[in-house]
Amino acid sequence: MNGSDGCRRIYVDNAATTKMSQTAIHAMLPYMDGIYGNPSSLHSEGQRASEALVNARERIARCLGCMAREITFTSGGSEADNQAIVSAARLGEKKGKKHIISTAFEHHAVLHTLEKLKKEGFDITLLDVHENGLITAKQVEDAIRPETCLVTVMYANNEIGTIQPIAEIGAVCRQKGVLFHTDAVQAAGHLPIDVQKQNIDMLSLSAHKFHGPKGIGVLYAKKGILLTNLIEGGAQERGNRAGTENIPAIMGLAAALEEACAHIDENAQKLIRLRDKLIAGLSEIPHSILNGDAKRRLPGNVNFCFEGIEGESLLLLLDDKGICASSGSACTSGSLDPSHVLLAIGRVHDIAHGSLRLSLSEENTEEEIDDIVKAVKEVVEYLRGISPIWRDLVSGKKEFIIK
Ligand SMILES: *Cc1c(COP(=O)(O)O)cnc(C)c1O
Repeated sequence: MNGSDGCRRIYVDNAATTKMSQTAIHAMLPYMDGIYGNPSSLHSEGQRASEALVNARERIARCLGCMAREITFTSGGSEADNQAIVSAARLGEKKGKKHIISTAFEHHAVLHTLEKLKKEGFDITLLDVHENGLITAKQVEDAIRPETCLVTVMYANNEIGTIQPIAEIGAVCRQKGVLFHTDAVQAAGHLPIDVQKQNIDMLSLSAHKFHGPKGIGVLYAKKGILLTNLIEGGAQERGNRAGTENIPAIMGLAAALEEACAHIDENAQKLIRLRDKLIAGLSEIPHSILNGDAKRRLPGNVNFCFEGIEGESLLLLLDDKGICASSGSACTSGSLDPSHVLLAIGRVHDIAHGSLRLSLSEENTEEEIDDIVKAVKEVVEYLRGISPIWRDLVSGKKEFIIK
């Protein structure tokens, strides 16, 4: 990858967004050019767009193991999360059930929606996440009450990549008769999904996390679940979401998802090799710690904390060296609050501030991994060299937290 100045750039921020694949781009072009009709129009131009929409919905459904009518297109992962949770809450309150279970390290699209419902009188249980970044189905089972209307647990975490036991949690929910939603935005296209086998009632995904376009996502809702529409207007999406369908983006999503799912195993194998090489390299840095379980994590996710380092300085210096990384979630970067995910797994504020997330794609190479390890080592050493906190740690005035 080349920057505007022609220098080689290494993009390892794929959890924030991915580069679109050529397959996705080419699937979109005809719908921005020749086939621009509105699927609701009765003339042939409209009907061609309508046929494309039907076709895309069927292909996406096949990737998820569901029926086409169970797919609702949204503007992305955030909207899908909002709609899933609000719908379950409205269904619950009709039956007097106003308790929702989730975890402390969900994406803000989930957490902020839950906070809003809390103000309306819903009781929210946020399960503690173990230091390895995992929760268990047993924790969910123990938290379920007669008045629980929804369990929402993310499939894979966007910062530390840990993969939750989704099928087991789904089985517990099914057995107790509680709706189960999963934010699968980081998982879709990267980990296998089968909503039937995994007992999933509702699922969110977003195209730009698997080489598709931005601004388009899917909410899967099992047949029979009445969705609450967040946007009023026309009867598009079976009345679940008003607004003329974004056909080019939908075609891009379908193509990107199919492509990702067709190569899921080989991509994972390649990424795991690169990921583990990167983890091994960065582990050599003294007073560093890997965040999240070493194995039960997304094939492309690496997340470290370095003691005595400030995440933002690390990112800026890495950017100077041509490396695009992140300190955690793209949503919190820019704010100086430490990541709620790292706090949830028990990292103290000072340590959580020194975090670095590197999220790989299939396009990264072994050589790039070597370059990243070298650059991070240099930058960490440099920053520690000019840090008064580091001086106190080395002189013994302060005690190391990461041994
Ligand atoms: C990116 C992301 C979202 C938000 O998706 P958008 O399409 O950007 O709205 C939600 N949840 C997780 C886990 C994500 O990684």
